[in-house]
Amino acid sequence: MKFIFVTGGVVSSLGKGLTAAALGTLLENRGLKITLQKFDPYLNVDPGTMNPYQHGEVYVLDDGAETDLDLGHYERFTHVKLGRINNLTSGQVYQTVLDKERRGDYLGKTVQVIPHITDEIQHRIDAIADQTKCDVVITEIGGTTGDIEGLPFLEAIREFALRVGYNNAIFMHVTYVPFIKAAGELKTKPTQQSVAKLREIGITPHILVCRCEMPLGRELREKISIFCNVPYEAVIEETDVEHSIYELPLMLQRERVDELVCRLLHLDTPPADMSHWQEIIRKLLAPRHRVRIAVVGKYIELHDAYKSVYEAITHGGVANDCGVEIEKVEAEAIEKFGAEKMLKGLAGILVPGGFGERGIEGKIQAARYARENKVPYLGLCLGMQIATIEFARNVLKLDNAHSTEFNAATPHPVIVLLDEQKQITSKGGTMRLGRQPCQLSVGSQANRLYGAFVINERHRHRYEFNNEYRDAFEKAGFRFSGWSPDGKLAEMIEMPGHPFFLACQFHPEFQSKPDQPHPLFKGFIGAANAYTNQKTPR
Ligand code: GLN
Repeated sequence: MKFIFVTGGVVSSLGKGLTAAALGTLLENRGLKITLQKFDPYLNVDPGTMNPYQHGEVYVLDDGAETDLDLGHYERFTHVKLGRINNLTSGQVYQTVLDKERRGDYLGKTVQVIPHITDEIQHRIDAIADQTKCDVVITEIGGTTGDIEGLPFLEAIREFALRVGYNNAIFMHVTYVPFIKAAGELKTKPTQQSVAKLREIGITPHILVCRCEMPLGRELREKISIFCNVPYEAVIEETDVEHSIYELPLMLQRERVDELVCRLLHLDTPPADMSHWQEIIRKLLAPRHRVRIAVVGKYIELHDAYKSVYEAITHGGVANDCGVEIEKVEAEAIEKFGAEKMLKGLAGILVPGGFGERGIEGKIQAARYARENKVPYLGLCLGMQIATIEFARNVLKLDNAHSTEFNAATPHPVIVLLDEQKQITSKGGTMRLGRQPCQLSVGSQANRLYGAFVINERHRHRYEFNNEYRDAFEKAGFRFSGWSPDGKLAEMIEMPGHPFFLACQFHPEFQSKPDQPHPLFKGFIGAANAYTNQKTPR
């Protein structure tokens, strides 16, 4: 088994996760069985309790793990199945070590960062190797080289590589080569210093991936090679992708990264056939159709907050040969300026998941606008609860209908806490999480889109539709098209007579890939495209 460790230098937000994922794409297409894991140096046990400003989106896996959004990249770029084991935080490491200490596993010893914490980190790499039996494990270390909290991870991978040997483990360092406008030059010094920092710890990178805004050129590559002690062909240029993150595997292939990795690790494989990936890029760059849709959210200025949603929309576009322009609409702006002003002319409205009261009324207005004007609507998790509240208030005339999450004293609690949640007080990892089955009603739009009667989707919520209102909703034409197998939990709703008004209690965005667009996003963008064509007939 072979191991690739991906570290980052100079600054954060270099797209280290994307680089690791794109390398994964190439290795998978060389016929290798791979897996990816992410180590995060913070002390939270998982990112589930952090807000999007801290962390961006929380990505949910089949087994219910709430993980770093880089795992979303891993799943979108490859076909690996990830689970709880694929995301390790310092919090988890310390928790395990302290539990062991209390049990007496270290009896008689002083428990220390080295070797106890670092051993625990290495155990996790061993565990993933044992469990997956794959050819290559790619491990990304979060944070930036030089951070105090990242040191145990770097020490652990140094020891690990020494143990398995440099024919079996390599280090890839993603670094930044800034362009200084006043000097009109790209500067290599930060990269040199970040590599020096790594070497101080005992890690010499085998490959340097240099993020830069313009090509490095021969001279700079030579300079980086000499000063950083990395062979010339292992200095990789990674400029910003021009249009889409999905171009990255092709860019790295042109730079021969996968070839180099395979050579260093003595992996004898044929070149990657990326023709299907090239077709995806063609559809992304030169689509036959175009639509503009709105995503109505509360962390709209923060792209990372709804990352998987945006990606899944793009995949829905690929499935329809349709370029999608996403209008990010702040829910509070709808409260201020009205739905008509903010949403007019857009071909689809999507309300994603969310927590907390801010912006809720704006989202309700958006759902109303979509329903009344027959604009395609897709509601995800909170987006389904919003559509339900809107229908209760404006069609069933249940004044002040609400979710008890936002108004505990509402006279019409159409959305209430799940029964199983009532006794739960602690916040970490306690929602209804992960993959759950859902049964679709025969002949529903959901059933047609999925082409199946039973589906499995990922969840992350505490609230549900209140079944006491079911009859009233159904009599008024609201359709419940998906239920949990025990028939108790409404999972999908739709509005017959509307070209596309669909919402779900789960998060379909976590299971969409560019080469396997999710059926709901495919349907939504298809409907948005039809809506656009009907408004502007050719
Ligand atoms: N806040 C809602 C709930 O907990 C919706 C959650 C979500 O959108 N992920 O049920």
